[in-house]
This record gives sequence, C-alpha cells and structure tokens, in this order.
Amino acid sequence: MRKESTLTILGCLVVFILLVGCAQESNVQAVNAEQSVAKEGANAEKNISTEVDNQSDSDFKVTLLGTGSPIVSSERFSNSTLVEVAGQKILFDVGRGSTLRLNEIDVSPGMIDKLFITHLHHDHTMGFDDLLITGAAVPDPRGTREGNLQVWGPKGTEDWVNNTILSYKADIDVRNRVEGATIDADVHEFEEGVVYENDGVEVIAFEVDHGPMEPAFGYRINYNGHSVVISGDTTFSENLIEFAQGVDLLIHEVVVVKAGVDEAYKSEAHKNIEGYHTTPEQAGEIFNRVKPKLAAYTHLAILIPESEANIKERTEKIYDGEVVVGEDLMSFEVGDEIIVRQP
Ligand SMILES: [Zn+2]
Ligand SMILES: [Zn+2]
Repeated sequence: MRKESTLTILGCLVVFILLVGCAQESNVQAVNAEQSVAKEGANAEKNISTEVDNQSDSDFKVTLLGTGSPIVSSERFSNSTLVEVAGQKILFDVGRGSTLRLNEIDVSPGMIDKLFITHLHHDHTMGFDDLLITGAAVPDPRGTREGNLQVWGPKGTEDWVNNTILSYKADIDVRNRVEGATIDADVHEFEEGVVYENDGVEVIAFEVDHGPMEPAFGYRINYNGHSVVISGDTTFSENLIEFAQGVDLLIHEVVVVKAGVDEAYKSEAHKNIEGYHTTPEQAGEIFNRVKPKLAAYTHLAILIPESEANIKERTEKIYDGEVVVGEDLMSFEVGDEIIVRQP
C-alpha cells in the first residue's frame, strides 16, 4: 500500500468510523418503525458503495462478511470472509447470516461452490445449512449452484457436514430443486500444507493454537505474486507468523476481555476465552514479526463495550504499521496497492 494513499484512505476511514459510530450508538436494540427507516437509510448508502465496488476490476478482492464472534449482534455477524480471486468466489467460514451479507453485495448463495472451514466452532459454521440448501433449492437469476458444494476443513469436517445434511433429511428428500442442482457436499479433510490449487490460486492451510479446539487452521491465499492470510481463531501462534511471512494483507482475530482491569476481576470463563484468542498487544507483536502491508482485525470478541476496547490504540502501542479495525462488508482489493473500501 502506497504511504500517501494509505494515509488518505485511513483519513477517510477515521471520519467514516466516527460517523458510523455515532449512528450505531443511536441504534438501541428494540426495533421500532423509526429505527427501521433509519436502518434502511444506512443500507441504501451501503448499496451505493457496493455498486462502486462492483465496478472495480480487481482480480483479488476480500470482503469481510462477518467480523463478530458468537455474541449476537446485528452490526457484527459471526465469522465469514469472501475471497474473490481469478474469477473464483471462495468462502472462508460460514458464520451467522453469511448468506444475508453475501446478498448485500449481490452474491447469491448458489454462486458459492467452494467453502473452507477454519475450525468447527459454531460461530464459524452456523450459516452452512442456509448456504447449502438455499443455494441449490431456490432459483436465483444471479446463480444457482450446480453439483455438490465443495467443502474443505480439518478432521471432523466430514462428520459435521454429513450430520447436518442428515438432520435435514425430511426436507431434502422432498424439496424441489433447480434442475441439475444437488443438495449435497463433497468434503476434503486436510492436514497442514497446500490444500487447493486452481488457475493460479493457491490455498495453504496452517495450524494455529485455539486451545482445546483442535485442530484449528488459518489460511494463506496466494495469487499472482500477492497474498492474504486469514488467521482463523487462535492465540499467539508462532506457526502463523511463519506462514504469514511476506503477506500483503493479514486478517487477524482479536479479543478484549476487560482492558486495564485487574486480573482478579476477570471471571474464569473470561480468562479462558482470552487464553484461546489474541489480545491487541499480542497481535501487535505478531504484526511486528510478520510485517504485513496491512493488518485488519476481524472476529472481534469484545466482552466490554467496543467503544471502550481501544483495540487500535492498544495495538499501536506495540506496532507502528497500518492497522484497520474491520467491519462487516468492508472490502480490500489486493494488488501492488491495497485499496480499503468502507461498506
Ligand atoms: Zn470464533
Ligand atoms: Zn473458535
């Protein structure tokens, strides 16, 4: 990312984040007619940006579909990331509401036929049935899936996929579907290494450290001399640092339990959660060792009000490179420069 354009982009980001932050603060959880209208207004703005995105001729684009965690949030859906590269649409994790976020960028679930899973926590998988069944059963002029959904994931993925499909047997047995479509999946379980190669696109899976959830993986996507790393869920991982060397865009998870609060005040459960994830300070050290052109946070597991989490400030005490706090539908065009687009 060129320094000059980086600063311009980040300047715009700051203004935008302030504006969005104010708008979000005014949205209380209860829904009433006034708020619905306000929300539609916000979405209309998003659609204008999305149209601009669609005009881009980038052949390596990443869109954060869900930047949240298991915490229920209408602002941050749970984890999912779309990589559009060399004409292929590849989904990494399929968390809560991923088909809705895909729809917001005009991608039907049937346009996705490749899914990579980092690990089997439900915040990364709970959108699977919607993607699988809707993508094959509901005709959509934008695209309906032909043939089986292809799913890559660690050991255990095959059981999860088969059991999920089995749980819908009563529906799948009788459900009309588009001619030629199947409501089924082929599963490719893998060990660490290159797990996918197609038309110049290479996907490498590498092990990370997510506490008791084993195995858990991150991914590196290489294309045309550029690269993106998705950390998956992990605490500080030497293996991630090794596999992420030379990366353009490092998309990393982050956790904030109780910043600045004495250890004694953290509950046992919070300590466990913090132990399986990455604090902003740990991430700063990781970014220092990896030196990505741009680091972006996703999977914000924030157990205090996000406005008090100071994620960026805490990271920047350790790391002086460029860091962006991701938002749902934020996108990145990865080339000689990295262009960040706000939703
Ligand atoms: Zn997670
Ligand atoms: Zn997890």
